[in-house]
Amino acid sequence: MNSSRAIFLTNRNDKFEARIERLELPELADEGEVAVRVEYSTLNYKDGLAITNRAPVVRKWPMVAGIDCAGVVTESRDARFRPGDAVILNGWRAGEVYWGGLSERANLMGDWLIHRPAGMDAKTSMAIGTAGYTAMLCVLALEKHGLVPAGGEVLVTGASGGVGSVAVAILSTLGYSVTASTGRLGESDYLKELGAAEVIDRQTLNAPGKPLQKERFQAVVDTVGSHTLANACAQLKYGGAAAACGLAQGLDFPSSVAPFILRGVTLYGVESSLSPRALRETAWARLGSDLASAKLALMTAEISLEQALVAAAEVVAGKVRGRLVVDVNR
Ligand code: NDP
Repeated sequence: MNSSRAIFLTNRNDKFEARIERLELPELADEGEVAVRVEYSTLNYKDGLAITNRAPVVRKWPMVAGIDCAGVVTESRDARFRPGDAVILNGWRAGEVYWGGLSERANLMGDWLIHRPAGMDAKTSMAIGTAGYTAMLCVLALEKHGLVPAGGEVLVTGASGGVGSVAVAILSTLGYSVTASTGRLGESDYLKELGAAEVIDRQTLNAPGKPLQKERFQAVVDTVGSHTLANACAQLKYGGAAAACGLAQGLDFPSSVAPFILRGVTLYGVESSLSPRALRETAWARLGSDLASAKLALMTAEISLEQALVAAAEVVAGKVRGRLVVDVNR
């Protein structure tokens, strides 16, 4: 047995509780399992929902929270991983169905893990986390569509959040003219430091709008959904594309087919947690090369496991700027 402090979620007789608990993790039992000494985890939007029980993220009780972690393999029953290997977990229902990464130790399946890119430390990888990795998946989807800097403005919605901040930073580093949409205009200087060429008020996008509007953007990375995504699609130029990954405004998509059939617009769905290994490795390699460390530092704050319990509610309320990295060992 391995002792581990973790964010532990229980739900007994409909009474939900989130607390720090010292747990005993069992010895590895199954082929394919890997034991990881966790160095850092993070608080994503989904972690916020799980720790506050604001949405049915957790499917099995009791649960150790945390969809992400980075650490070092201590024991392995998967031939691809050896003790001492530096690894990253993103998703795969950890923190939802399987005990997750907001913990000093985690027993995970090798199929879920990738090796951390050379030169990237554990803290950096968790400052990026699922949020940053999803931002890169959006960029990759748009690149596959044919996105080039000369094609014009790229819109990023929910820009002050985790996915949005990383998307702004990557796209601007790659030479795109980025328009950042935010409800926090007080963060305009921050968004410009990340590389936004222009900052717009999200109120210009979040109310019902016409199905076809003035063509403006070549592409959009959308973390918000609902009317915001509908209006963004209505403002895409002929042949443009949207990469949709989030639902911060809502799960609905009150649009029409007009942008798709009259302007040849394409809507890409981006799902991070079950994406195949090859795509994950490509995304993480690109994060290693295309996300400037100074920009990542600007958007990241470090917190402890105890502080993560409190910060979860702030994440869900949309009050956190950028990314929260969690030192699980303090
Ligand atoms: P954050 O909470 O960090 O950011 C979300 C941002 O959305 C907020 O900062 C805010 O930005 C904006 N926002 C919040 N509420 C509203 C609202 N009512 N209307 C319009 N905008 C709003 O979350 P993440 O960046 O980590 O995640 C963003 C979304 O992406 C979430 O919905 C999350 O579930 C989803 N996601 C999906 C993944 C996938 O695999 N598809 C993976 C990771 C995340 P601002 O203040 O700048 O307006």
